[in-house]
Amino acid sequence: MSVQKHMLASGTPYATPYYVISGVSPGPVFMIISGIHGNEPASTRAAQALAGSFLRGEMTLRRGKLIIVPLVNVIARRKGIRGRPDLNRTFPAGAGSKASHPLSAALYQLALRYRPSWYLDLHEANGLSQLNPRRVGQTLLISRGSSATGTARRIIRRMNRSITNKAYRFNLRQRERAGTSRLAVQHLGARAVTVETCWSLDFPLRVRLQKEVVCHFLWVAGVL
Ligand SMILES: [Zn+2]
Repeated sequence: MSVQKHMLASGTPYATPYYVISGVSPGPVFMIISGIHGNEPASTRAAQALAGSFLRGEMTLRRGKLIIVPLVNVIARRKGIRGRPDLNRTFPAGAGSKASHPLSAALYQLALRYRPSWYLDLHEANGLSQLNPRRVGQTLLISRGSSATGTARRIIRRMNRSITNKAYRFNLRQRERAGTSRLAVQHLGARAVTVETCWSLDFPLRVRLQKEVVCHFLWVAGVL
């Protein structure tokens, strides 16, 4: 296994590290991004922790390749804001159109280069989906008809078994949304899932849940 650190959007004010972890043997390409929005810190902490575990050799990638971009929007994170403009609205809308932001352009190029078959986009949200069906806190979001549906359902069942507070349990939501996940599905054919924890849970718990969800997916994809 090897872990390499690179810079995304290097030479711009948006430069941010990403990691390419190459497994012991060949296999699927798995991509994890977080921090598209600057006010969702638990997802970034979880992605950083994961990258750190591979760097220190505490975790081993058995197969394939894992690309982790722990904090996409460094500037929005520093300001503690979602981001202006909302990065999720700056990705190319379709074939032939261009990304309208240096970060989304760089991220898109990275995804095109590695063509992941799995794509996790880590976020946080306001409101618990168990208490309000219109909220997405504590959900896995997939697009309608996604080939990741069955896997996402099984992972939610497994996660929820260990979450004693019922209000904190995860739900599956299908929705068409702009942003990186749609992009991954439409242009790359990846199995894309957006992970959303809820701001009202304690920070350490949100970080732990983000990590657990990601590890379940890594396991299912056969890279761990
Ligand atoms: Zn978000």
